[in-house]
Formats: sequence, C-alpha cells, structure tokens
Amino acid sequence: MGGGCGTAAGSDMKKLSKTNYLVYRDCAHNAWVKVHKPEIYHAVSLSVFEQAIIEVGNDVDVRARELFPDGILVRRGDAVGTAELVAARAPVIYQPVFETDRYTTACDILAWNAATGAYDLYEVKASTSGEDRKAKDDLYAHDIAFQALVLQENGVPLGGLHLVRLNGEYVSDGKLDLNLLFTREDFTDRVTPLLAAVRAEMDAAHDLMQLPSRPAAPCTCIYKGRSSQCTTFSYINTNVPDYSVHDLTRIGASPKKLKALVDDGILAITDVPDEFELTVPQRNQVAAAKRRRPSVELDPLAAFLDEIHYPIAFLDYETYPCALPRFAGYGPFNHVPFQFSLHVVKAPGGDAVHHEFLFTEATCPDAPFVAALKAALPAEGSIIVWNKPFEKGINAKLAERLPAEQSALAAINDRVIDLMDVFTEQMLVHPGFRGKTSIKWVLPALVPGLSYKGLAIQEGATASETWNSIVTGELEPAEAAEARKNLLTYCGLDSLAMVEIWRALLATVAARELREAG
Ligand code: SF4
Repeated sequence: MGGGCGTAAGSDMKKLSKTNYLVYRDCAHNAWVKVHKPEIYHAVSLSVFEQAIIEVGNDVDVRARELFPDGILVRRGDAVGTAELVAARAPVIYQPVFETDRYTTACDILAWNAATGAYDLYEVKASTSGEDRKAKDDLYAHDIAFQALVLQENGVPLGGLHLVRLNGEYVSDGKLDLNLLFTREDFTDRVTPLLAAVRAEMDAAHDLMQLPSRPAAPCTCIYKGRSSQCTTFSYINTNVPDYSVHDLTRIGASPKKLKALVDDGILAITDVPDEFELTVPQRNQVAAAKRRRPSVELDPLAAFLDEIHYPIAFLDYETYPCALPRFAGYGPFNHVPFQFSLHVVKAPGGDAVHHEFLFTEATCPDAPFVAALKAALPAEGSIIVWNKPFEKGINAKLAERLPAEQSALAAINDRVIDLMDVFTEQMLVHPGFRGKTSIKWVLPALVPGLSYKGLAIQEGATASETWNSIVTGELEPAEAAEARKNLLTYCGLDSLAMVEIWRALLATVAARELREAG
C-alpha cells in the first residue's frame, strides 16, 4: 500500500478522521464547515433522537463484542496502547485506534486469525440489511476501506474485512441468540477493488481540510429540495429566504423545475410566476402563500367530515423502536407500543373525554396496552388518527404477537380514519402549513391557542427516548416521575390537537352553510 502521505505533514495539520471522510464523500462543503466552523455545523444541537441513534449504535456495538469474547477494550484515542496490543498479537481487540500523520480511525473489533496469520477486521453497524441495502453497503464498504488503508499504513497484518449487522429477519423468543441476531458478511472482495480510489479520495479530503476558506464550488443543494439539504445550507446560501422554492411540495422529485426557478433568481415562494408550470399541490401552496390566507375545497371537506361517526375516538400512540429486541415476538427495530392517548366525543357538541395509558414497567407492554385500549375505546364509531399507516401498522404487529386479540385489533383498524388526509389531499391549504402536513405545522395554523411550544417533550422521537430512559432505570425516581408527567402531557396534546383541528374544520364547513342560508 502506498504511503500517500504526500506533502505537508506537520503538527498543525488537521488529521482526517473516518467520520469526516464519510461526510466529505457526501459533501465537501459540509465536511469543511464541520472541521472549521463547528459552531455552525452544530448550530442545531443533536436532538434527543439523534443522540439516541448514537447510543443505540454503542449498545449494538457492545453486544456484538460478545461474538468475539475475552477481548481487550482500548481507551478512547489510545493509539500507543493499540500498537502495543497489536505487536503482542492480542487475540481480540475492541475499539483499537490507529493514526498516521494524516489520518485517524478507530475500528470496532480486530480478531487475530491464527490460520492466516493476520487480523480480521469487523465493522459493527446498528442497522438491518433491509431497505437501501445497495446504498448502505456502498457506504459501509468505503467506511471499511478507510480503516483498512490506515491499518495497512500502520503495518498491521490485515486479513478478512467483515461487516456485522442486525438480521432483519430475526424474531426473539424472549432470549437473545446473538448468533442469529447478528449477521457476519465478508466484505473483503467488495472493499479491495475500492482501495485505490478511496486512497485518492482520502488524500483529496485531507488536503481540502487544510484550506483556510471554504471550497469555492457552489453548494449543489441549491438545486435540491429542503429535505436533502444539510444544516449548513443557510450559512452558505444567505440569499435564500427561510420559506423558499425549496419548500415546494415534492420539488425534489422535479429537479429541472427547481433549477429553472433558481437560475432565474426566483427564490422566495411568493415570487414564483403564476404561469410557471407546477403540480396542482404546488400551485395551491404558492397561491395560499401569495394570498396570505387559506383556500378550502368545501364540498370534499364536508363529505370527509360526514364520514366520521359518533362516538368519535381521537387516538394517538407512542412507541419505541428498539434495535435489540427486548421481548418475545420482537425483531430488531420493531416498535414497542408503550403509551396511548384517547379523547372521545360521544355526541355532537359534546365535550372530549380523555383516557390515557402509559406503561413504564420493564416487562412487555403488549398485553396491558391492548387490554387498556379495548377498555377505553367505544364499541362503535370512528377512530381518528393522524397518519394511519402508523397506528394501523402497530395494531397489525400487536395482532401477530397476540393471536387471541387478532379479531379485536382488526375491528379497530377497520374503523380508523386518517385526519391527515384533509391536508395531504389539500381540502384545506393554509399558508402557515408551508406545504407540510405534519400535525406540528397544521395545529398552530388552525388552532393558534394550542401549541407544543414550551412542552418538555415536543415530538415523538423525544417521547420514545424519554420512555426508554425510564424503563432502563437511567433516571432517579424523581426524574422518572417528572418524565412520566411530560410523556402524559405530550401524548395528551397529540390527541387533543386532533379534536381541535376537527372542530376547526367543522366550523369552516358550518360557516359556509350559514353563508348559504343567509
Ligand atoms: S446544503 Fe448540500 S451542498 Fe450545501 S453544504 Fe449542505 S450538503 Fe453540501
């Protein structure tokens, strides 16, 4: 392997880490900002959910070590200690650290292979081999190639290159079988042909990191929809307004349209010309932004509301997607349903009566969850949710794990109506939605008096992590009591928000009827 250390070795140089190399592969701008302007890169601090993803990765990594028992764990950053262990041919090393004058990396597991006289490298990923397999495998191959090159430069005899990840087909019988939970895949033949190209990329990335100013090339996400842009977009593109053409519904699927607008200097959503070709949803979004008031398709909205029958149950679930299955019948990342909130309106003009369930024991919540749900739900009438594939999917999984409840859960699913359909089907378009259909955007626009702002928990991912910290005993009793209270408040608002949005829609239709009668 060529040294490739090139020109400017020195103590003031910034070493390229594996993480930054992978960020660079995604976007050179973003990698530069991460290294040189961390206060901007991290301006949006990690959400509890993002922190949780890191912690989940750590948990999975620690469990995977049991596949290679009796290893020695290297202290964070201890390249010297690693070198000593490698020189002594320690049989198994966890988290070994390697550095060159330009690069630094840590591996998950090195295992000495006496048959080949070399170390086998194992990279552990907290992901399954399901969706996006091709893209993920390519990313993982580059990840392993970076490590392999740094290890080779350190003179480590390197044998097989492997990926260890979670088996998406695995279903626990209540006791984890690590040999079935994890898959081990030999990536050697996939990584080896990449090495020369990765070496060149590493050198280019390293050299770019030494530049005192950001690369001159334009930020290519100017031609991509909002969901593709990174957190540094607004730092680089100061001329792009907060609500811009990048927020047009599904504009990422029409890059030519977006490019035409940007190249013509049309950035604010209100500057899109009336004659510019847009889809119907995009056109409605622009029209609402220009008029600064909502537009309503009253007939479809009235027909939708007529399909909702009393007693009306407004139902919301909270779940925890658990990477390592904790209970029988669960596979990796299956959702554990731990909480629901239900508001019931029995008859027209009636109050919304609240029911709630929150399970914070360390045991499986499935059976108590379903029992509480059946007890609280009216025997008939509509069940209103927001984004029905989620609640219906949870019910279907519960039915698989609790066969005795199959017919009850199927009957519940048959009564479900998705209130979000009003907004995805644009029966009502409000400038405040900004093209979104999430309840977090719809609620403040339609019911300004009710808000998630100021709540300790403001979104579902934080609720998940809060529950997990209670049931895993991370919190002191007083903290756990506070966390329970916060969970009840948050989930309660989710179902109450649906009640109030439904009432706002009823009022909209009633206003028309009044106008027509008058
Ligand atoms: S917005 Fe896109 S192109 Fe711009 S820095 Fe971020 S990832 Fe790179």
